[in-house]
Amino acid sequence: TSRNPLTDEQISSPLQVFGQAKKQINNIFVDIQDYVADASERMIDVNKICPDVIVENELKSILDYRSKVKGICEVLTRDHMKVAFFGRTSNGKSTVVNAMLGEKVLPSGIGHTTNCFLQVEGSQTGDAYLVTEGSNEKQNVESVTHLAHALNYEKQLNEKELVHVYWPKDKCSLLRDDVALVDSPGVDVTPHLDDWIDAHCIDADVFVLVANAESTLMVTEKNFFHKVSTKLSKPNIFILNNRWDASANEPEFLDQVRKQHMERATDFLVKELKVCTPDEAVSRIFFISAKEVLQARVKERNGQALNSGALAEGFSARYMEFEEFERRFEECISKSAIKTKFLNHSQQGKHLVKEMYKIMETIYNRSQEQTHSKMCQKKEFQEKLNFTEQQLICITNQMKMKIHQMVDDVEDKVSKALND
Ligand code: GDP
Repeated sequence: TSRNPLTDEQISSPLQVFGQAKKQINNIFVDIQDYVADASERMIDVNKICPDVIVENELKSILDYRSKVKGICEVLTRDHMKVAFFGRTSNGKSTVVNAMLGEKVLPSGIGHTTNCFLQVEGSQTGDAYLVTEGSNEKQNVESVTHLAHALNYEKQLNEKELVHVYWPKDKCSLLRDDVALVDSPGVDVTPHLDDWIDAHCIDADVFVLVANAESTLMVTEKNFFHKVSTKLSKPNIFILNNRWDASANEPEFLDQVRKQHMERATDFLVKELKVCTPDEAVSRIFFISAKEVLQARVKERNGQALNSGALAEGFSARYMEFEEFERRFEECISKSAIKTKFLNHSQQGKHLVKEMYKIMETIYNRSQEQTHSKMCQKKEFQEKLNFTEQQLICITNQMKMKIHQMVDDVEDKVSKALND
């Protein structure tokens, strides 16, 4: 309670609520870690002096709790929010990831099909590097071209494989706030959907289906999410109808096409997958152009002005819709990740503290009982000692009187005999 949480004014993005929760739960676990360490050291000491007070199992449990808490602390410092992007090849998954990051991090476009899973996350060191699965080697990444080269040529990558791309945190607020973004190979290229889900999706907080607004949702795309929702209860799914800039070429059909996509996507989420209500679906389905957003953000980053002449009709509306998607996404991922990542740990923490308290209380009670019984023994012994002392005094007094009498008697008898 006294850990100075950020005030509402200080929180500029819902993502920071996750960061704040993570900091708090980490602090609590550091306290629990100190408590367990202290308790186990004391128990080891007590056990050396009075081996009868602590039962072997109790000492073992406390030592087990110590390593459990250490494990949880390690997981907690690594915890992040995870969003996974799926869709058919060339729908624009990498472009959406880049648009959200605000710069070209992942290679995209013709000749750069993502052929493995790529997880972009913040780099602690400030350097950009990649680490392939099963390796600890940090391969420096100087540019997108370099990354594309490393991914395409330097190693034959398996489509199920996960490559971690660590990108400087200060370059992107999403990475600063502990979001990891996972790009995937197209759902159309694999027969191994189940393996994908088991390996990369079970711990995702949010899924983004990047669809192509120029066509309808494909069976392969739907099929993938049907599989996801059989393995996860109520996954958080967003649908991005990408390439919406193409609609600018056919303004006469714009409203009609949007309505049709909206109805189909809503039916998919609400009726087929049953992952949200019709009201919620409105804030889960968006019409965007990732390419335009990326271009605009890269220009802004380089201090260049947007050349309004080169922008397709309706750019600002699409840009605003992308920002609205980001806002809804941030709210959703932060809420979901706090629940999935911390609820379980906080319950485990509570359970551990309760169990430890029980053990310490049992030991305390046992030591009290032992002290009490020793005191009783001492008292009993004391009473016996007092009684014996009394008896001795009595006997001594009686003896004294008797001797006195005897002396008197003898004196009497002697003086009588002398007289006689
Ligand atoms: P991925 O295979 O799903 O990762 O697709 P990419 O992100 O590599 O995109 C494939 C191609 O589509 C690239 O040439 C992108 O520039 C282009 N693209 C992506 N998003 C959009 C968009 O919103 N509008 C248009 N016109 N092109 C896009």
